[in-house]
Amino acid sequence: MLSKIEKVYAREILDSRGNPTVEVDVTTFCSDNSTRGFGRASVPSGASTGSNEVLELRDKDNRYRGKGVRTAIHNINTNLGLEILGMDVRRQREIDQTLIDLDGTDNKSSLGANAILGVSMAVARAAADSFGMPLYQYLGGTNSFSLPVPTLNIINGGQHAGNDLAIQEFMIQPKGAESFREAIRWAAETYHVLGDILKEKYGRSAINVGYEGGYAPPINNTTDALDAITDAIDEAGYTENDITIGIDAAASSFFANNKYDIDGTHLTSGELMDFYIDMVRTYPIILIEDAFDEEAFNDFAALTMEIPETIIIGDDLFVTNVERLRQGIELGACNALLLKVNQIGSLSEAFDAATCAQHNGYAVVVSHRSAETEDNIIADISVALGAELIKTGAPARSERTGKYNQLIRIEEELGVASQYMSI
Ligand code: PEP
Ligand code: MG
Repeated sequence: MLSKIEKVYAREILDSRGNPTVEVDVTTFCSDNSTRGFGRASVPSGASTGSNEVLELRDKDNRYRGKGVRTAIHNINTNLGLEILGMDVRRQREIDQTLIDLDGTDNKSSLGANAILGVSMAVARAAADSFGMPLYQYLGGTNSFSLPVPTLNIINGGQHAGNDLAIQEFMIQPKGAESFREAIRWAAETYHVLGDILKEKYGRSAINVGYEGGYAPPINNTTDALDAITDAIDEAGYTENDITIGIDAAASSFFANNKYDIDGTHLTSGELMDFYIDMVRTYPIILIEDAFDEEAFNDFAALTMEIPETIIIGDDLFVTNVERLRQGIELGACNALLLKVNQIGSLSEAFDAATCAQHNGYAVVVSHRSAETEDNIIADISVALGAELIKTGAPARSERTGKYNQLIRIEEELGVASQYMSI
């Protein structure tokens, strides 16, 4: 029985940074009118965005200091939504292509990637609902399911915090746990011990948090942050076999005049590479994201060659774009893809990037953005794709914990059929 799209409706809501974003409702009906389906999705937004991401359409008028999304909403309610009325909601790829064709540009700048993605995700949710299926199962097909290892951002710096840390994210991976639920407990305990350590060392204001719920202490040196985290893991009663460390340098944000401005010095790419290699030898670091500027494919390739055991992730480098990923694969740049659905602007294209990564032996790390909503769709996406890791902030703040909590529910639902990823 066909399940057809009956109504598409978009509204403007707020994201976790207090800026407007797009939310879309899709309603479906069965040809014999027996069942209906409903799907709702909302669109996240980045702060340290890659320059090759698709375009997030903002009104640039006087509402919300230019950040309104009424044009994107209008484009859905009067154009994109109407075009897919009556289509079978389960034909995700065909629907996404219809939206992409209607926009007609390479970077979705005509109707807005935020408009297209909102519809694309709400369609997937409505389709799953029309089948009476959980979303991860609808999107993942007959796969046997694994729960990703969470990589939790517990110290914020860079463009995500009001401190002087160049590195944007300091994360922990409770990879030695036996289940996702247990992993979250380990991470939350470590997060709270870290809070105590930071308060004791730097005063009460050190436990103020950044965009992703990690602490934003008044530290300006990478090693001070890494030392505090290492101490927290230890004091919480865990070892480096239990909990490891990772960073997202977001290096484009401290790259200027061909040098990287970090820890009070200006490093060449070669010197920055030595800095990372030394860091990996000194601390239990298993992953590094966006180690270099977003166009420095060759530097990423050199680092991947030097420390092949480390998970080297491309975020701004690949922008969830198959073309850029293929370029990286050819050069040996990175061994993991960061997957952010709004970097590319439709579910089908994001899944294509994941498939390309997996076929070439790259790990997939499903990721949130620094501004999120209560929508937890990336939790289901991570399970559907069999992603090795999910990165969705600290074990604090509802727009972050919402995703972790959904994974706890999925693990419970899968019961003995669930497996916690080993990385
Ligand atoms: C990131 O850089 O990985 C990130 C989540 O930040 P943003 O959403 O600001 O790009
Ligand atoms: Mg990043």
